[in-house]
Amino acid sequence: MESDFGAARRMMVETQIRARGVRDPLVLAALAKVPRHAFVPEPLRRQAYADEPLPIGEGQTISQPYIVAFMTEALGLGGGEKVLEIGTGSGYQTAVLAEIAGEVWTIELVEPLARRARAALDGQGYANIHYRVGDGSEGWPEEAPFDAVIVTAAAPALPAALEDQLGPGGRMIVPVGTDLQELVLVRRTAGGLERETLLGVRFVPLVRSS
Ligand code: SAH
Repeated sequence: MESDFGAARRMMVETQIRARGVRDPLVLAALAKVPRHAFVPEPLRRQAYADEPLPIGEGQTISQPYIVAFMTEALGLGGGEKVLEIGTGSGYQTAVLAEIAGEVWTIELVEPLARRARAALDGQGYANIHYRVGDGSEGWPEEAPFDAVIVTAAAPALPAALEDQLGPGGRMIVPVGTDLQELVLVRRTAGGLERETLLGVRFVPLVRSS
């Protein structure tokens, strides 16, 4: 069973990720290593390496593997960074970040999802992840600045509070829009914030609790 999953995972990296142009060796290695099946509900484990998002309960989904790879590559992580993630969801993206970066701060609004994600991540032995349950729209100001911010739910507009928490040279990747959404990459350069639109996507909405 575990070896079947390993073969499926290697196939996923080759046919879904590398074949679509993701080249960052750290991202490819992380996707080859993290057991995605440990982050999906038990009855869906056999589909864990398929080229699609999957339901994880509470009306939420685990993102398609390619989107996880694409967004992680856009952050340009080299190791050692402080990363903020909004929308822990299944915890799969969190694990990929924790493989590459120094430390990850992750916020999830829906308590049962946060609990399950934490159990899955603890089960994989990650010790460099900090968890918070609540609305991540305002970021994690006590821990700012961050080298990278990733938002895995669609914001109606670029979240200013999160841009503010980007340190010098920092990068944020965030889906922006309602029906039609685009991944926007924000970079804090010496000259200010630069914003670039990368890819059309479909994410669940970022929910404001207030
Ligand atoms: N990266 C996750 C994607 C989960 S979907 C994965 O691959 O599994 C997006 C997640 O964002 C959902 O779990 C949803 O509950 C959460 N979310 C939505 N609005 C939020 C908010 N304001 N703050 C924190 N999390 C939020």
